[in-house]
Amino acid sequence: MRNWENNIRRVCPYVPGEQPKDRGIIKLNTNENPYPPAKGIMKALMDYNADNLRLYPDPSSYELVKALAERYGVKSSQIFVGVGSDDVISMAFMTFFNSDKPIIFPDITYSFYDVWAEVYKIPYETKPLDENFKINENDYLCDNGGIIFPNPNAPTGVYEDLDKIEKILKANPDVIVMVDEAYIDFGGASCIPLLKKYDNLLVIQTFSKSRSLAGARIGFAVGNERLIKFLNDVKFSVNSYTMNSLTQKIGIEAVKDERYYKETTNRIIKTRERAKKKLIKLGFEFPDSKSNFIFASHPNKPASEIFYELKMRKIYVRYWDKPRINNYLRITIGTDEEMNMLFEALEEILKK
Ligand code: PMP
Repeated sequence: MRNWENNIRRVCPYVPGEQPKDRGIIKLNTNENPYPPAKGIMKALMDYNADNLRLYPDPSSYELVKALAERYGVKSSQIFVGVGSDDVISMAFMTFFNSDKPIIFPDITYSFYDVWAEVYKIPYETKPLDENFKINENDYLCDNGGIIFPNPNAPTGVYEDLDKIEKILKANPDVIVMVDEAYIDFGGASCIPLLKKYDNLLVIQTFSKSRSLAGARIGFAVGNERLIKFLNDVKFSVNSYTMNSLTQKIGIEAVKDERYYKETTNRIIKTRERAKKKLIKLGFEFPDSKSNFIFASHPNKPASEIFYELKMRKIYVRYWDKPRINNYLRITIGTDEEMNMLFEALEEILKK
């Protein structure tokens, strides 16, 4: 080992779902939206003046922040935007989780949380979800350095109602509680209204799922003005120009077209409900999902085998070889046609 290796920040990175180069794949592995982004986005791309690229973008993303503030009925000073919600959450970890006490999150959850905790050297503890993958709110009443969980949770799709979240908020007035609402538009109620009562709540959302813009990288946080100011102070101490000017324009167009995104999320919800019935018929078991994916297990065939067999048929879903979830597949809801092909393949695989 060379001496300089003693001073390296060593981390075990987050592993995102596979992005295959082959176009012929039915891609149900990264919770992307199967429908295209809103029409106004195409126009914004065509109308974009390339000369703008000479200039630095607006570091505050003023227009996008304003559009979001209007959409969610809050002040502009209550919105922070970032390059995907991963960027927003990462900044929020750096800004708000600086206690010697451990932050807490569920044992089965978004697998980036422990990676950020490791990279920023934040102590953390996980609390086990119950046998139905639900949060036990009593686990979150202990002394801690902060709290984060997604609602609905990932990869389970399980939604917790606002009463439970409020109980957690009430019990933790001295730390920041972050609710990661990446999948909230697929049927749950956002806890943004709770911001009126709790100044320690930070709600994080993304354009990657319901707004079909995973490739554009836009995420945002809503919180009280002081939290957002602290977040901006940290962001401007790391990198001022995070979101490029074209992406800011795309984001504004997406927010404008509320009708389109409601229409596509409703289509996905309909397909999801149909998929639930079909999967039950095929013998799968799963917790109820309020997201754009279903976390399913089959009593007669190991998930790892189904995963492999689907992959052979060019259908990609997500599988983790991790304790408690190594017999589950996370299946993103695609178009009706894609789901029909999945069901056909599953029927064939389960007959074997
Ligand atoms: N939170 C959760 C729970 C997620 O599943 C994801 C998607 N991987 C994200 C945040 C990040 O999404 P993005 O960076 O695309 O906004």
